[in-house]
Amino acid sequence: MYCSNCGKPINDNQAVCLECGVAVKNEKNKLNGQDKLVVILICLFLGEFGIHNFMLGENKKGIFRIIATVLLCGTGWIFALVDLVKIAMDTYEVNPNKLI
Ligand SMILES: [Zn+2]
Repeated sequence: MYCSNCGKPINDNQAVCLECGVAVKNEKNKLNGQDKLVVILICLFLGEFGIHNFMLGENKKGIFRIIATVLLCGTGWIFALVDLVKIAMDTYEVNPNKLI
């Protein structure tokens, strides 16, 4: 991660750039650079097919959601609902290695 003002490298947990003192905006990095509102809308309308998971680079989760929705009588929407709440509350963790 780099400072948007001076370009110096900064840590993820740093709130202010030590070089120039500008506040660091790292809100977007939580969702793999995707816009939170867009992810929420896609999760709301296409979440049961894991489209938001593919967007966030979580292909395993996405494929699992499709399987759950198609083969397990639409249960994929339950996972999508959990994701939606977590994304809205900023507690969602992008993890491409997780299945659920
Ligand atoms: Zn800076």
